[in-house]
Amino acid sequence: MVRVARVSPGSIASELEIVPGTEIRSVNGREITDFLDWEFLTADEALEIEVRLPSGDDILFDIERPEGESLGVELEPPSVRRCANRCEFCFIEGLPKGLRKPLYIRDDDYRLSFAYGNFATLSNLKERDFQRIFEYRLSPLYVSVHATPWEARKKLLNNPRVPNILEQLTRLVAGGIRFHGQMVIVPGLNDGDVLEQSLTDLYAFGENCLSVALVPVGLTQFSHLYTGESMNVDHARRLLATVESWGERALRERRERWLYGSDELYLLAGAPLPGIEHYGDFAQIENGVGSVTSLRHRVANGMSRLPRLDGRRIGVVTGKAMGPLMPDLLDGLSEQTGARFELIVAENSLFGPTTTTAGLLVGADIVRALNGRPDLDLALIPAESINEDGIFLDDATFAGVREQLPMPVFPSYDFVDVLEHEGSATPVAAGRGR
Ligand code: SF4
Repeated sequence: MVRVARVSPGSIASELEIVPGTEIRSVNGREITDFLDWEFLTADEALEIEVRLPSGDDILFDIERPEGESLGVELEPPSVRRCANRCEFCFIEGLPKGLRKPLYIRDDDYRLSFAYGNFATLSNLKERDFQRIFEYRLSPLYVSVHATPWEARKKLLNNPRVPNILEQLTRLVAGGIRFHGQMVIVPGLNDGDVLEQSLTDLYAFGENCLSVALVPVGLTQFSHLYTGESMNVDHARRLLATVESWGERALRERRERWLYGSDELYLLAGAPLPGIEHYGDFAQIENGVGSVTSLRHRVANGMSRLPRLDGRRIGVVTGKAMGPLMPDLLDGLSEQTGARFELIVAENSLFGPTTTTAGLLVGADIVRALNGRPDLDLALIPAESINEDGIFLDDATFAGVREQLPMPVFPSYDFVDVLEHEGSATPVAAGRGR
């Protein structure tokens, strides 16, 4: 059973008088257990939908849906499948206490892997899940492989009962499912021989393994389980050499690089980030692979849309990791617009100084960085640091943060998204956020 959260006005569902709170029980005689059933079983045009209204009335609707017309139903969010592992490097293990409860949920859900590109280890996959993956052709999946040698993977996931990932992937591939893989690299556990063996195994899946990303282990000051070595410049350089040699081979044999390093790996190694041609279709950009290069590209492409902003002073808040990469970008923006950009690198007060990602900055960091700066006409902060409800990881709201600051503040993904709309505004010395 799934429950209706919203109904679009004027939609088929609203004409049928389906309302929020309605339970959807079955479609064409098949039980509806989650959003996947709903999405796939309502793809037909002739539908028999069995519901229970909030009033308790059971109704069977017999619908002929015009081709392409949506039913207009939004479901309540699914309850996520919980993770069965206890990885030492788990980001959730590294969260400080006292944050809102949903942040501590360890999800490991093949459904979200297909629907949103969330990585899943597949450790909790049951026989019924395999059957659904095949029936609904959930491809590609995003799989946290970490290591293919079974013993190494058990250790990495801190789970002696973890299934053999090679057997699982072989079965999925035989059923027509493709996948993207990621390996979080923990020095001493899955670099060296384990890494080579894992890449050899994954490469052997041919075009069914669409890409693999190497991501350096990231720890916060709260990662109390972790006993391994931390990532350093030498480790990062060795990993990049592996990325390079496998990438060259894949380029020769498959005409695409296949193996990618996350941006963080390049930053840790002090190596220049590759250009746009390196990343193909940016298949793992959500995993931090190529996001800086993509940002540079979007800024370069958007330059011509930017208005003159002569004389305005614009603050740009970011984390320590992005700090060194910003001056070039901001110089270009300055030249194009005539505005003066000031880079403000903020330290993460919630996770500690080892956490340098801009997207993990919290509301208190933003306030500290911008408070007492009435000289700025405008400030841009990382849009990734706020969720879809406008809330930072420390529960501060964007609206609340903005109210405390003496200049208009905007979340921005690539500067252009905000600055292209600034042309009509006149310079202001100070003012409350809009
Ligand atoms: S698989 Fe590991 S890293 Fe992912 S949520 Fe579970 S314990 Fe955390």
